[in-house]
Amino acid sequence: MSQPRTAVDRSARRACIVGGGIAGLAVGVYLIRSAGFAGNQITIFDQAPVAGGALDGAGTPGAGYRIRGGRMHEEHFACTWDLLSGIPTLDDPGVSVTEEVFAFNARVASHSHARLLRAGRKVDVASYGLAKRDILDLLRLNVTPEAALDGKQIDEWFEAAFFDTVFWHLWATTFAFQRWSSLAEMRRYAIRFMHLLPGFHQLKGIVRTVYNQYDSVVLPIETWLRAQGVDFRLGTPVTDIDIEVCGAEKRATALHYLADGQLQHCALEADDCLFITLGSMVERSSLGSMTAPAALRPKEDTGLWALWERLASRYPFCGRPEVFNGRIDRSQWMSFTATLKTPAFFDHMERFTGNEAGTGGLVTMTDSNWLMSVVLAHQPHFRNQPADRFVFWGDGLLPAQSGNFVG
Ligand SMILES: Cc1cc2nc3c(=O)[nH]c(=O)nc-3n(C[C@H](O)[C@H](O)[C@H](O)COP(=O)(O)OP(=O)(O)OC[C@H]3O[C@@H](n4cnc5c(N)ncnc54)[C@H](O)[C@@H]3O)c2cc1C
Repeated sequence: MSQPRTAVDRSARRACIVGGGIAGLAVGVYLIRSAGFAGNQITIFDQAPVAGGALDGAGTPGAGYRIRGGRMHEEHFACTWDLLSGIPTLDDPGVSVTEEVFAFNARVASHSHARLLRAGRKVDVASYGLAKRDILDLLRLNVTPEAALDGKQIDEWFEAAFFDTVFWHLWATTFAFQRWSSLAEMRRYAIRFMHLLPGFHQLKGIVRTVYNQYDSVVLPIETWLRAQGVDFRLGTPVTDIDIEVCGAEKRATALHYLADGQLQHCALEADDCLFITLGSMVERSSLGSMTAPAALRPKEDTGLWALWERLASRYPFCGRPEVFNGRIDRSQWMSFTATLKTPAFFDHMERFTGNEAGTGGLVTMTDSNWLMSVVLAHQPHFRNQPADRFVFWGDGLLPAQSGNFVG
C-alpha cells in the first residue's frame, strides 16, 4: 500500500466523485467549502451527457420540455439550504439560491384547495378519514424500533380499509409509496415529516424552487463548481473500482472508466478520496413520445446497476443491489411533462382548483387506474420558456395498469 502524502504535498491529492447528481455535486461543494480542497483537485464522473442525475429538466419551446424527477422541499431541509446558501443564483451573484427560494416561497406559498379528486370533483380532505384502529397502527409504527420492521411491507401492518382513506391517498402520492413499499421507510418518513401533518392535506410547508430544479439548483451549483476549477467528465461511465482490503480498512486503488468508448484507468493514492453517489431512481429510465409509450427497459450491462453489481460481487460490504433492482414490476414509476401552446388548460385548472399555478401542488385523481397526479408549477418553469408556452408535470404511481382512456 502506498504511503499517505505529507502535509506539504497535500495539494497533490485528488478527489474523484462518481455520479454528478445532487449528491455528487454536494460532495464537490463541501470538499471545497469545508475540507480544504481546491476545485482543480476534484473530478466528477457521470455517464450522462449532463449533470443533475434525476434533476435533469430540459427542453425547448419548439420540441417541448421534460422533467424526469424533482424534489419537494420543506423549510427544515437543513442540509439542502446550507448547501445552497453558498451558491449564487444565475441571475444575481449577490443572492444565494437559498435566499432566492425563500423569497419566492414568501410570494408563492403552497396551500392546495384541490388535493384529491374523485369522479371529477374535489374530495373533502379536512378529515384524514382514519379509524381508531388506523391511528393506533400509525402510533404503534412510530414507537416500534426499525430493527423489528426488517423486511416488512406496509400492507402487512395496516388493515385493508386504511388504504381507502384520505390519509393514505395523500401519503402515497406525496411521497410515492406503494402498499408493498418498505414499512421501515414509511416509519422514517412519518418521523421525518411529522411536523407537516397539520397542513399535510393542503401541502402547506412545501417549499419550491423558482424554476425546475435543473435550472434553479443544478445549473447554479455546476456553474459555481466549474468556476472553482472542478473537472466535469460527462458522458463518462465508470465501469469498475478496485478496492484494497486491509483488515477493517478499505481503500479504493483505481477507477476504470470509458472515455470516448476507450477503457481508461485512474490510480488512486493513499490520501486521494473517492465518493460514489450513483442514486438509482431514474436509472434505465426511458422516454416516450406523443405516439409511443416509454419502453420498460431491462437492466443492461452498463451504468449504475452494472457497476454496483460488479462491486457487490467482488466486495460483500458494497451492499445488495438486488433489493433495489430485483422487482422492476414493484419499483416502476411513470412521470410525464406536457408543453402546451395555449393557456386553456391552465385557465381551466386555476378556476377549477381555486389555486393559481404554483400554489397548489399535486392534484391527484384517486379513481384513475394509474393513480395519476398533475402539478401546475409557477410559470415559466424553465429559464428558456417563452410566455406562450405552459408546462406542467405529472406522474402515475401504478403505470403497469391499463389506462382509463388509453389502454
Ligand atoms: C419522479 C420523481 C419525484 C421525486 N420527488 C422527490 C421529492 O419530492 N423529494 C425528494 O427529496 N426527492 C424526490 N425524488 C428523488 C430525488 O430526485 C433523488 O433522490 C435525487 O435527485 C437523487 O440524487 P442523487 O445524486 O443521489 O442521484 P441521481 O440524481 O440518480 O444521480 C446519480 C448520477 O450517477 C450517474 N451514474 C450512475 N451510474 C454511473 C456510472 N457507472 N458511471 C458514471 N455515472 C453514473 C447517473 O448518470 C446520475 O447522473 C424524486 C425522484 C423522481 C424520479
